[in-house]
Amino acid sequence: QIFILQETGQSPSPAAGFPQEGTHMGRQGDTIAAVATPAGPGAIGILRLSGPGAADIAAACFRPLGRKGLLDHPTRTLVYGSLLDCEGQVIDQVLCTYSRGPASYTGEDTAELHCHGSPMVLSLGLEALFAQGARQAGPGEFTQRAFLNGRLDLAQAEGVADLLDARSREGARQAVGQLSGALSRKIAAIYSALVDVMAHFHAVLDYPDEDIDPFTQEQLARDLEAQRQDLEALLSTYQRGRRLSRGVKCAIVGRPNAGKSSLLNTLAGYDRAIVTDIPGTTRDTVEETVELGGIPLRLIDTAGLRDSSDPIEQLGVERSRRAMEEAELILVVLDQSQPAREEDAALIRAAVERAPTIVVLNKQDLPCQLEWTEPLDLAASVPICAKTGAGLDGLAELVAQTFPRDPGSGYGELLTNQRQAEAAGRALESVRRAGEALDLGVTPDALLTDVEEALSALGELTGQSVRDDVTDRIFQRFCVGK
Ligand code: GDP
Repeated sequence: QIFILQETGQSPSPAAGFPQEGTHMGRQGDTIAAVATPAGPGAIGILRLSGPGAADIAAACFRPLGRKGLLDHPTRTLVYGSLLDCEGQVIDQVLCTYSRGPASYTGEDTAELHCHGSPMVLSLGLEALFAQGARQAGPGEFTQRAFLNGRLDLAQAEGVADLLDARSREGARQAVGQLSGALSRKIAAIYSALVDVMAHFHAVLDYPDEDIDPFTQEQLARDLEAQRQDLEALLSTYQRGRRLSRGVKCAIVGRPNAGKSSLLNTLAGYDRAIVTDIPGTTRDTVEETVELGGIPLRLIDTAGLRDSSDPIEQLGVERSRRAMEEAELILVVLDQSQPAREEDAALIRAAVERAPTIVVLNKQDLPCQLEWTEPLDLAASVPICAKTGAGLDGLAELVAQTFPRDPGSGYGELLTNQRQAEAAGRALESVRRAGEALDLGVTPDALLTDVEEALSALGELTGQSVRDDVTDRIFQRFCVGK
């Protein structure tokens, strides 16, 4: 039987003939295997194994070219040889490597077979690994094992997922920083300071008849205030972090024929929307993510904002208005080869009120007829030629300026998803409550509860104190083989 299971996120059905969990337990333990490279033909395709039987299973399916067996070679070397099926038939000429836990990605024994990137080779190879006792890995199961074995904390594991999904330079830099532990270190510093505060309270609780002396009280208040500020700063990184991971919703608006579709196409690098000379042909909204100024922009092309009697066009206009409503960035495209109209000025005014706005003065290759400046003062503007892409650097620069980096936060130190922001928000609330309680002279045991809650919320960020179903959901986001 042939199996191809990649990036589908689905578990194989037993009917497909996959060995089920536990089938070969004991002999090879719970060893997982998967294709780790994307579906379809490519230069290289990688089969990956992790678990107590990983090295033995790889060795059983692999015949090195020289006299030495795979396991006679040192770990983490690439060995050239043949990948074999269970009858000893050669499937492919491959490179194989193995590592011994705990010094591996998952913390377990692991092995990789680097094959030619042929879907058929990978299917046959996977089948051979299954025949030796491995089972199909679920989505994210390699990274989940890395987390369970303490090789990565949860924030780092989320960095892995963000890196795979990154759609901009800034997003990729942020994700790899998070993977390297930048966010975890930030959280650990706050955590450790709060543990110190808790130790003080415990000391006080041991002598319940004595009041906290004023000096200690003041010190504790200062410590709590410092952690409150750090948590507030951490929480404020979420806006940029979310933009980098999810993209900035960007509406392109302007009169029909201003060049909105042309701009979208130039940004997207190919013909995604229909461009014609007939006004109002961009009837449907299409969405495209492009990178501009290091930021992922989720561009929503619109039908233009003119009144129209055509019902389909009106739908488009309605959608344009809605797009502007929900936009976090608005690009107003003006055809500067045409005299400006009042509706252009009205559009700029409406846009500026809703979201950061950039006026794109298009058709720079034609003589300028615009003849007004006043509405242009309301927003940043940039000359471009959507047809050739000239001036896009200037537009990128303006986008980068609109969403600047916070100099206080390095790459990897941003909160990037709602789970993280929600946990950090709860930690902040608890620390704030503890500070207020201290000011009011509340008993130390009440304060302790608040600080403990803050620690528990911070623990959720790194996975120290998080429910299994939550981690399961996080790893479901990953593809099979990661
Ligand atoms: P939309 O209705 O705003 O989406 O405008 P389109 O992108 O469909 O463009 C309308 C017309 O203007 C098309 O014929 C484009 O080829 C043309 N156009 C777009 N950008 C430029 C430009 O920079 N220079 C010139 N000369 N023509 C352009």
